[in-house]
Amino acid sequence: MRVLVTGGAGFLGSHLCDYLLAQGHKVIAMDNLITGNVQNIAHLAGRTDFEFIKHDVTQYIYVKGPLDAILHFASPASPIDYLTYPIPTLKVGSMGTHKALGLALGKKTRFLLASTSEVYGDPLVNPQPEDYWGNVNPIGPRGVYDEAKRFAEALTMAYHRYHGVDTRIARIFNTYGPRMRLNDGRVVPNFIYQALTHKPLTVYGDGSQTRSFCYVADLVRGLYGLLMSGEHQPVNIGNPTEMSILEFAHTVLDATGSQSEITFVQPTDERIVDDPKIRRPDITRARELLDWEPTFDLREGLRHTIAYFKELV
Ligand code: UDP
Repeated sequence: MRVLVTGGAGFLGSHLCDYLLAQGHKVIAMDNLITGNVQNIAHLAGRTDFEFIKHDVTQYIYVKGPLDAILHFASPASPIDYLTYPIPTLKVGSMGTHKALGLALGKKTRFLLASTSEVYGDPLVNPQPEDYWGNVNPIGPRGVYDEAKRFAEALTMAYHRYHGVDTRIARIFNTYGPRMRLNDGRVVPNFIYQALTHKPLTVYGDGSQTRSFCYVADLVRGLYGLLMSGEHQPVNIGNPTEMSILEFAHTVLDATGSQSEITFVQPTDERIVDDPKIRRPDITRARELLDWEPTFDLREGLRHTIAYFKELV
């Protein structure tokens, strides 16, 4: 296949490019580089089966020649990033998804939307199955991301129902691994950086909020399985092992061998407004439809991630 990956220079996008190339496909990565980084794809430069196009997908997308699949991953994705770029986040989820779907229709390709567990907001059921409609504050600071992705899902289903586009929707839960930005503000890079530099680990609130962390290699394998399936309804892709953020802080200390302390902080900015109190994917559908489940446990995934961050600090 000849595949377009929007957001191809980002954390997930670049791992997808690697995976697709390893499966023998040709890849075009597109990115406007506001939160992506060409360093993530520098190792692919010069390959004849890989191409990079710097472009903002909220503008008309032109790709020369035939395409077989579009994986739409362009979007700021960490809370700090979408709070810094609220309007670009809304635009890429809405206008960017519109352009990418228009291209899928025009080129007659399959289309995979990178959606998110944020469509469930601050969930009132745990774990979250795909038929849960969510609990999202549309006007809160996180609403720019959550609602953009919810709109993107609605648009994707409309293109599927009305135009017959061969679409997929992946609801991606917290993912970590090499190529996360050290300063993207998310808990994994923050805690690892703090542990490696002997700074206190900043647990927001009382640390009882939960997350379920999926290693990037597992995630990308699940996404590829979904792309190759015939499934049009949303599918959760994530690791169902749930833990509190305080527990996660201890795990990072253990995995790094760091003597850092843990401090409880209450950010005064918008970072923790509407911070989901619980999050865990119900992956029954992924198991049944894609025969997929994660294989990396947290310790192993953290080992690879810590090795990557050690090179940067
Ligand atoms: N968090 C924290 N300390 C940090 C960064 C994040 O305690 O230095 C918490 C944050 O409040 C949230 C969880 O860790 O409850 C996960 O945050 P992240 O930004 O990684 O992703 P989210 O799941 O909120 O999109």
